[in-house]
Amino acid sequence: MYCRNCGNEVSEKAIMCVACGTPPLAGNKYCYNCKTETSPGAVVCMKCGVALGGQTPGFGAIGGTGERKDWLTTLLLALFVGWFGIHRFYTGHTAIGVVQLLTGGGCGIWTLIDIIQIVTGSYKDANGNILVKN
Ligand SMILES: [Zn+2]
Ligand SMILES: [Zn+2]
Repeated sequence: MYCRNCGNEVSEKAIMCVACGTPPLAGNKYCYNCKTETSPGAVVCMKCGVALGGQTPGFGAIGGTGERKDWLTTLLLALFVGWFGIHRFYTGHTAIGVVQLLTGGGCGIWTLIDIIQIVTGSYKDANGNILVKN
C-alpha cells in the first residue's frame, strides 16, 4: 500500500512511513491502494473505489477509534447474515452495509468476495485495520 500523506510505497504493517515519518493512513493526499491523489474530504477513492475511512467526521468512528475487530466474529457474520451486510456494519463500513442490505449482498457475489477476503486475511475494517485473529 501507499502512504496517504506522501504517496511513498509502505509495508502493509508499517506503523510509520519511512519517507515522511507520519502513520501511512494518517494523511489524506493519496489513495493508499492505487496512489491516486485524493481530495482531503474524500470518503472513497475516485479511481479504484476503496474506502478512505477516517477523514470525515463520524466516518469510521463506529465502535471507537482504532478498535480492532474480531476476525472470527466477522467471518461468522459474513457466513450467516452476510447477505444483509451485517459484517459490514460490524466492521464500520456502514454505507456499504446499507447497500449490501438493499441488494442482498450484491446478489450474494459481493458477500462471497468479502468472505474470501476475510478468510485470506485481506479484509480491513473502516479504520483500515486488518481483523484480529484470536
Ligand atoms: Zn509518507
Ligand atoms: Zn485508489
